Amino acid sequence: MNYTCIASGYSSPASTKFGRYCRPHVAQLRRHGAIGQTGITKAELKAYGRIVSARLEKNRDKPLLTQLEARWGVVQTYAATVRDEARSKPIVRYRREAAVETLRIGKNVNARDVIETVLAMYVMQDQEPRRFKSDQAFKTQLVRRVRGLTRLNADAWTDAKTGKRKLVYRDLSQRTVIIMGGWIAEALGPAGIMFARLERKDHEKEQQALLAFRQTLDDIE
Ligand SMILES: [Zn+2]
Repeated sequence: MNYTCIASGYSSPASTKFGRYCRPHVAQLRRHGAIGQTGITKAELKAYGRIVSARLEKNRDKPLLTQLEARWGVVQTYAATVRDEARSKPIVRYRREAAVETLRIGKNVNARDVIETVLAMYVMQDQEPRRFKSDQAFKTQLVRRVRGLTRLNADAWTDAKTGKRKLVYRDLSQRTVIIMGGWIAEALGPAGIMFARLERKDHEKEQQALLAFRQTLDDIE
């Protein structure tokens, strides 16, 4: 029997191990969370980061940032519990891996940077919904961008031919990513959704003001 990849319109041979998809599509699914999903780049997220940063600044006399930092702290405490549990009893490998990775990020990245990145992802999802193929793809990209705040998830090696240092990013298993994404989303997602909503409201207000202005121009005699 001949297997073909269902994502390529059955033109490429499927990898036998995963059955339905060819190797490049299996890799995309693993790395990006969905067939057809490409990585959200730092550059793409930048504008949304600025939006979030400005709103945090606008609300700096309120306990907003402090509370978000506390929520990220709860994730860290929880991850530590999961990691310690893993020492005394068998625990699903993915949960352990998610805990270790979450703690690594907590240790190496400023809480505010994590918060801004996560919130920016929610605003982006709201404004560019087509950029994310599924919820799983969104969570995968969320984790990727948060992990991208540190370079420590990359193993550096020197290319013998060119003498250049290269970084090879370690991919977490998809299940680990989904667990981590779940923890982050639970802690910071509500704020992310609120930021997206406020952004939309501000935009509508601007549109209305513009419309009113045009109306005024129309009424000039
Ligand atoms: Zn394929």
